[in-house]
Amino acid sequence: MTKTGYLEGPSLKERFLRLVYPEKCVFCGTILPDTAKVSLCGPCHACLPRYGRGFERMPRIPGIHGLFASFVYEDSMERAIHAMKFFGRPRIARTLAFLLWEELMRQPLVPDFDLIVPVPMHRRKRMSRGYNQSERIGQALGEIMNIPVEGVLAKTRHTKPQSLSSREERLINLENSISVPDPSAVSGRSILLVDDVVTTGATLGTCAQALRDAGASWVFAAVIAIA
Ligand SMILES: [Zn+2]
Repeated sequence: MTKTGYLEGPSLKERFLRLVYPEKCVFCGTILPDTAKVSLCGPCHACLPRYGRGFERMPRIPGIHGLFASFVYEDSMERAIHAMKFFGRPRIARTLAFLLWEELMRQPLVPDFDLIVPVPMHRRKRMSRGYNQSERIGQALGEIMNIPVEGVLAKTRHTKPQSLSSREERLINLENSISVPDPSAVSGRSILLVDDVVTTGATLGTCAQALRDAGASWVFAAVIAIA
C-alpha cells in the first residue's frame, strides 16, 4: 500500500478556486489555508472521537472476517457524516476517507486487500440523493491506498429506511436484496467492504455473505464510524 498523488495537495486550479471559495474545516467551518490537503483544522483533528481498535471479529456479523471502525459515531463526527449524506456535501467523503486511512495506518496489523467494494445503494435512492456516499468514501480510499475500487454488489430491491423498521423487519428487508452479478470479479480475492456507519451490522453482514457466496476468500469491512 503506497501513498499516491491524492496526498500531494490541491492543484493550482483548485488553489485559485479556493481564493474565491475558501476551503473550510468540515467539522467546525474554520477557513483553511489554500494549500490544505484535507478539509480539516488542527484542533478538530486532535479531538476526533477515535475508536482506537484494530480489525475485530464481530459475532453479530458472522460473514465478516474483521471489522475496522475508525471513529465513534458522535459529536463532530456524527455531524460531518450527516452533512455528507443529507445536506448534499459529498466532498466531505474525501476528508473522512483520509481520516479512516490515517487511523488504519496506526494499526500494527492490516490485511492485504485486492479490491475495495462500497456498500451499494438502490438506484432510486441514489438518484434522489445524487450520489452514494459509501462509493465516494471507497473511491477516495482506493486512491490513497492504491487499491482498485469496484461496485460489484447490486442492490436489487428497494428497502425501507433502516431507522423506520424494527430489527426483524430490517433482516427480512435485506434478505436477497444484495447480489454479485459477476462472481468472477470477486472469486478468490481479499475484499475490503466500505461503508460510512455501522449500526446493527445487518447491511454489512448481507453484503459480506453475498461476496462470500460469490467466492471471495476474505471479506473485511471498514467504516468511518461505529454507532
Ligand atoms: Zn475544525
